[in-house]
Amino acid sequence: MTTTTNKFIIFGAGFYGQKALEHYGAEKVALFIDNDASKQGTLCKGKEIVSPKEAAKLWAEGGYTVVIASLYGESMALQLDDLGVKDYVFFISPVHGMYETEELVLNPYEQTKEAETECEWSSSQKLSYSRAEVNKMVEKLHDNQPLFNHIEIETINRCNGTCSFCPVNKNVDPRKKAVMSRELFEKIIGQLEEMQYSGRLSLFSNNEPLLDDRIVELSRYAREHLPKARIHMYSNGTLFTLEKFKELIPLLDELIIDNYNQNLELNRPSREIVDYCNAHPELELNKKVTVVLRKPLEILNSRGGDAPNRKELVEYPDDRCMLPFKQMIVRPTGEVSLCCSDAVGRWTLGDLSKEPILDVWYGTKFTKVREALYKGRKYCGNCKYCDSFSLG
Ligand code: SF4
Ligand code: SF4
Repeated sequence: MTTTTNKFIIFGAGFYGQKALEHYGAEKVALFIDNDASKQGTLCKGKEIVSPKEAAKLWAEGGYTVVIASLYGESMALQLDDLGVKDYVFFISPVHGMYETEELVLNPYEQTKEAETECEWSSSQKLSYSRAEVNKMVEKLHDNQPLFNHIEIETINRCNGTCSFCPVNKNVDPRKKAVMSRELFEKIIGQLEEMQYSGRLSLFSNNEPLLDDRIVELSRYAREHLPKARIHMYSNGTLFTLEKFKELIPLLDELIIDNYNQNLELNRPSREIVDYCNAHPELELNKKVTVVLRKPLEILNSRGGDAPNRKELVEYPDDRCMLPFKQMIVRPTGEVSLCCSDAVGRWTLGDLSKEPILDVWYGTKFTKVREALYKGRKYCGNCKYCDSFSLG
């Protein structure tokens, strides 16, 4: 990241903004920008937080570079474009890690208080901020219709977890068991290879990837054929042995272990991995591995109305959704689902066992879904009950 100026304005006063401050040095940072009005006028690490508009005036005086430091970076860039700010850089690249941190263990509840009721979840500020961001981003995506930058290939549709918010936890999973054939897997990877795919690749979707005994060899195959892809994996960590971890980690760009434990304690496999990473600082595994302390009993998004612990569904008829503009979800049979929130595969938009990947992505069903979601969730079936506002 190079710039010709010596003063920085950091856009985002959250976790990544503070990391950017450390990176550039406090003496070189003039102030922070944040879209959260309740933060504006306060201080973050001794620096004033202002609105984007105020910062744009300062930028116009010359001598400043804006550093976008947030997972919402793409939409912030659009905001800066609208304000005429041309000199900006990204602290996190647009196809970023899910957790751009070198800390091995994260406790997300320290940053964001969990919702205690469904009502509290629905009225959270985080949700309203994400809604606004998604609605803006879809405008841009609708005009450009880019290729997906995130593909999830679910090689087995099973999980051993019992998370209360998950429509496919092992106590409620309605899906018929399916395992992807090696032939189909190689066919899909081959098509991505032809495209020189460089987005995010996940060898899982709504499942626990380590339930597939072939996960190491499948990851190796993907790594060899897609050298530019960002291969990442989420796992609940319960099936890891240290040996499996050591085999898998060189093949991945990022491993996130969602360590589900209601008391926020490390489960044994996670503890072993953390101890191993700490004992071998020369391997710098903290750059790839993040163990996230998660509660299995938690109120989260409704996932199109399918979350088993959500009863009070709120409708979002006029909101848009960006997932089908950015994400392709492939089931073990080759069927392509609407999005990662469509955990049980209610919608099938194509079948990669029969159709080429680009024909599905630009095909009639995906196009219709995108048009519907551009107009509003009420035009797309159960999407109107969905309060997932992911930025992909
Ligand atoms: S959230 Fe993940 S770990 Fe939990 S039950 Fe669902 S698929 Fe399994
Ligand atoms: S609104 Fe529809 S497409 Fe978007 S995440 Fe929810 S279920 Fe998926």
